[in-house]
Amino acid sequence: MTFHQFDFHPAIAEAIAKCGYTVPTAIQKQAMPHLLKGKDLLGLAQTGTGKTAAFVLPTLQNLQQGPRKKIRALILTPTRELAEQVHENIRQMAGTTGIRSCAVYGGVSKNGQIHTLRRGVEIVVACPGRLLDHINSRTINLSTVEVLILDEADQMLDQGFLPDIRRILKHVPQKRQSMVFSATMPGEIRHLVENILTDHVTIQVDHEKPAETISHVLFRVAQNRKTALLKNILKERDMATTLVFTRTKYKAKNLARQLQNAGYRATSLQGNMSQAQRKTAMNGFRAGKFNILVATDIAARGIDVSGISHVVNYDIPDTVEAYTHRTGRTGRAEQTGEALTFVTADDGRLLQAVERRLNKKIRRENLADFDSGFDQASSRSGNSRKSPSSRGPRRHKASTRGRKGSARKNTSSSRY
Ligand code: AMP
Repeated sequence: MTFHQFDFHPAIAEAIAKCGYTVPTAIQKQAMPHLLKGKDLLGLAQTGTGKTAAFVLPTLQNLQQGPRKKIRALILTPTRELAEQVHENIRQMAGTTGIRSCAVYGGVSKNGQIHTLRRGVEIVVACPGRLLDHINSRTINLSTVEVLILDEADQMLDQGFLPDIRRILKHVPQKRQSMVFSATMPGEIRHLVENILTDHVTIQVDHEKPAETISHVLFRVAQNRKTALLKNILKERDMATTLVFTRTKYKAKNLARQLQNAGYRATSLQGNMSQAQRKTAMNGFRAGKFNILVATDIAARGIDVSGISHVVNYDIPDTVEAYTHRTGRTGRAEQTGEALTFVTADDGRLLQAVERRLNKKIRRENLADFDSGFDQASSRSGNSRKSPSSRGPRRHKASTRGRKGSARKNTSSSRY
């Protein structure tokens, strides 16, 4: 199957060719025929499957007819980086169609966004918090929206955006085409889907399974030896572009600094940084100015940087889903990648859960110097972490925030 079958407008077909896409990915093949007909859709797809183009291309095609300079499609994303990325994708795919989009998110001045909105755009890609700001100050009009898309819906719910989404829905016409994309399908999403979608089709592509193109390796190490282990691995292996995940903002910042001091081109991305700093870090990583990005889970989803050769879980993630999302930053678009995970004696239960999901044991690599501290740590700590299924702090936090309905400055939960 090729893209010709979809009979896209010549300007869109030209843009597809310019991006180098020849064959539609699985989600594109399955979703696009329905979306082109205006059907509602629930897309269950892991990151890296080409889901952005799966919703952007039919939307652009459907917007060819009809008025311009009115907001006709609204795309909601959980993070500013993802909003920026989807906006950039639309810019590329729209080619010479004349359809414009605007990214709307917090941490930057509202004035620039107001100016762009006044000039007139057909698509808005927004994070919920700033969008509500614009709604409240009447600097945006959503009464002409024909298409509503929720991208990474499970992450939006995790981050406590449900009350904001409900408020936004009140400003969008009932009669519209709607799509929800989510990597996982917790109960809340089912509920949301019932509220948002009408007579929808469901498409599922490799749901919740880490990409096959990634090889997984595990290093046993004591907590206080992790940085030394990372430096050792960076020295020994050919790691072109590496994304390192830490559990906290503080650690991300500190570790990046330590790596910089050791002579590496490293930077960090975490929720305490200003939006300008976040953008500088992402752009620098994308452009190759930095080849190591140390980040919290703020960078675990959606973010598409081509050619990330390695993902390092400096700290094992909280949940199996987070493992899938983090490691999905490598091995994208059919390239191969390696996911290296550091485990301490406390990480046993979570590791078991990850291996169950992968349906195989992760290959262990022993580096003599580092492995030895592991058992000491084990006997010191005695117990192991709680089972991942019995945890769920993020979901709990999210629902607490949700009840309060707080207006947040950041698009991510506080630890990230
Ligand atoms: P996404 O899942 O939307 O983040 O897309 C993952 C990556 O796949 C992005 O780098 C896209 O540019 C790329 N991609 C999307 N569709 C195709 C396609 N049909 N052929 C090749 N690459 C694609």
